Amino acid sequence: MTGMQSFGDPNRFEISAQWIKDKEHRNRLPKAYGWSMGELCIKVGGVTLTEHRIHGESKESLQWYLGPLVAWLLSQWKWLMHEEAYAWPTVSGDSAAFTAEADLERYMGSEYPKDRDVYKEIRSWWMRHALRSADPSALYPSIFIRRFEDNIEVSWLDKQPEFAPDGYELNLNPGSALFAVEEVAQPLWKFLEWATNEAQGVTKEDWAQVDALREQFAIVKCTNISELEAAHLAADVLTVLMDEAGKNQWKPDRKASNDIPVVTQFDMPVLMFGGLNVNISANDVRQIFNILVLQHRGVEDEKLSSLVSSPSNYEYLQPYAHGYELAYQIREELDIDPHKAFIDIKKYLKLLRIDVLEVRLETNSIRGIAIAGNDFSPAIVVNLSHKFNGSARGRRFTLAHELCHIFFDRSHAKRLSHVSGPWTSGRVEKRANAFAALFLATPHALERALGENVSPDRAMIERLAASFGIGARALREHMRNLNIISDDVFQAISY
Ligand SMILES: [Zn+2]
Repeated sequence: MTGMQSFGDPNRFEISAQWIKDKEHRNRLPKAYGWSMGELCIKVGGVTLTEHRIHGESKESLQWYLGPLVAWLLSQWKWLMHEEAYAWPTVSGDSAAFTAEADLERYMGSEYPKDRDVYKEIRSWWMRHALRSADPSALYPSIFIRRFEDNIEVSWLDKQPEFAPDGYELNLNPGSALFAVEEVAQPLWKFLEWATNEAQGVTKEDWAQVDALREQFAIVKCTNISELEAAHLAADVLTVLMDEAGKNQWKPDRKASNDIPVVTQFDMPVLMFGGLNVNISANDVRQIFNILVLQHRGVEDEKLSSLVSSPSNYEYLQPYAHGYELAYQIREELDIDPHKAFIDIKKYLKLLRIDVLEVRLETNSIRGIAIAGNDFSPAIVVNLSHKFNGSARGRRFTLAHELCHIFFDRSHAKRLSHVSGPWTSGRVEKRANAFAALFLATPHALERALGENVSPDRAMIERLAASFGIGARALREHMRNLNIISDDVFQAISY
């Protein structure tokens, strides 16, 4: 044994481990994986998630049986690296750690039969993504890994292990981070390769367990790419997509790693329908797929390309403050006078050669869709069935919101097929809403329009909303965020 083996970058994602010889006689250790004592350390963004105190002493890595962890990573690999959507109805935009744990707790105690079914769904999703499901008796931190579009999301809570011995305490604060797929897949796979290679049994039964792990590693390594990709999609959506792809002679543009069983870049339709936490009808899948076909093989305007960037969603900034900053940046680049009240958004979309398509989907939960990337003419799809798109002002807000996604929410491969709805990441959606509000109404223009009036009434807000072409409720919230109106004035204008 040669000490801790590290895989990955500690400032991004790193897993380190070593096998340890147990001082205890084999007979006194558990039958399953009793041979597999080891040391484990996980670092994300420079933070050591396994850091803990035991009897007053601080330690970076924890000692526990590693066999169950290796077995779990191998059996759930496909889901860990490719499944994004929650398998139960939830509108949470939080990280998987918050969403799954909060919903588990909510449904756990319920005696209502329907809730019991939801609980089972959450529980099985938890088994596929929560590190603690590998071994509930272990002292692991509560870490969740899931796909998030063309990225991997790692998120964690500060919940202590259920069976922690006295004097044991994990040190971490809750958090989450997004990585390029390889940044997480590579270290985890290398860890599995090392662990299965170097594992040492004691008894014959132990060696049978070691051999089983090695065999499983070899099997997972050969997983078919389409099987991996299918883990991102609901089965019924996949059927419709395959049917449509055949009819339209769609050539998949997915990318997979050469030496690791992982799809690093999904085929565009898979990317588009994968994260949806909504029952989407076959007709809607067909209609949206056909829009993709329509936009495919197009090009992006150079001016637009020059404005595209991927700022982190995990800034220290509040999402709304960040959205404001990004909107200022774009208004300046487009040479829009900050004092100008009404922005002709369609004019700017035309200038950037972004197509606007209005459709009436069967679902009313999708508000808008943004499509962009290599080989695509960028487009914004406005779903007329969504309640906010019933008015011209609502549609203007949707356009500005999706415009933010086109500029700032592309994947590492610079692609985007973002479907806006209550299930998408809360931070991304809040940022896009703030962007939209400021793009359509700057504080300079609002203050000029208000003049001396520091406590506008409801009628005044309505007038302003009409002249800026923005919904009155959205404007009222926007003005409070900008500190143009006080909390008292905000409360006084009720809706
Ligand atoms: Zn959105």
